[in-house]
Amino acid sequence: MTYEVILYYKFLEFQDPAEFKDQHKKFCKDLGIKGRIYIGKEGINGTVGGTPDQVQAYKNALRDVEGLEDIDFKSEYSDFNPFPRLQCKVRDEIVSLHADTDIDTSDGGQYMEPHEWREMIESDQDYVMIDVRNDYETKIGHFKGALTPNLENFFEFSDWIEQLEVPEDKKVLMYCTGGIRCEKFSALMKYHGYEDVNQLHGGILRYKHEEEGKHFKGKCFVFDDRLVVPVNPEDLEPIARCEITGKPADSYINCANMECNKLFVCSEEGARKMDGCCSEECRKSEYKRPFDPDNAFKPFRKWYHYFDEEFKERELQNG
Ligand SMILES: [Zn+2]
Repeated sequence: MTYEVILYYKFLEFQDPAEFKDQHKKFCKDLGIKGRIYIGKEGINGTVGGTPDQVQAYKNALRDVEGLEDIDFKSEYSDFNPFPRLQCKVRDEIVSLHADTDIDTSDGGQYMEPHEWREMIESDQDYVMIDVRNDYETKIGHFKGALTPNLENFFEFSDWIEQLEVPEDKKVLMYCTGGIRCEKFSALMKYHGYEDVNQLHGGILRYKHEEEGKHFKGKCFVFDDRLVVPVNPEDLEPIARCEITGKPADSYINCANMECNKLFVCSEEGARKMDGCCSEECRKSEYKRPFDPDNAFKPFRKWYHYFDEEFKERELQNG
């Protein structure tokens, strides 16, 4: 069975996000689509998965909404639906930058289409390229030569820019997974006086399809149960190392000790060696879920899937 996974966003003014959310959530439930959708006064941001028919019906329905006629979808395929459930929520920001100022995304960086991006990399032009993603994403893959700020959360970028030592007239290129973080961060950079700000239109995922991921090293982290997807078929060598064995690896697991649950780079060999735990200490924990090599590389959801009724009862009482 093949599933389609899509990513999309659109900045537009929603008069009544709560009402739209209620209708949209019901529509998704009836259709049987799963994933994560954030709706706010500033727009909509989602990633959902389902059968190709379900996804087609979903896309059609979104394009029927006033203001969303031209919404752009990035598609990927997976042999399982990488979303365990549906989350459809109202948020103040559809992607949280927590900037002190109102960001006008209509005044964001210049779009660079994937082919322009590749040509720029292959040119001898002077620029700085910023990877606008989190540390655990850049660790397993990024464009060659990119500046990787190593921040844990996107909202930390609004402080990071304060100490950025890049001249305001320098050409800036930036990219993220599907483009939405660049929409906000490029607008913030312009607000801070940067003059030549450019963003990869459609992010790594569109670039992967249109330019075969050229000049990208490693893999791309995605926020669903697949965790990582390949980008550049010519450069698939892992750039990170297994935290257990120290050997090159690019797969992530959550520590099997549910009290820890740390997301860490781990090879299959490392996972088997430590029963899926990040440390010896975690391995001894009574909160360790049984190690299942076949499911080790899917993220952990809720601890109670793994224990019997009695244990659940006790833990629920313990809060
Ligand atoms: Zn651990």
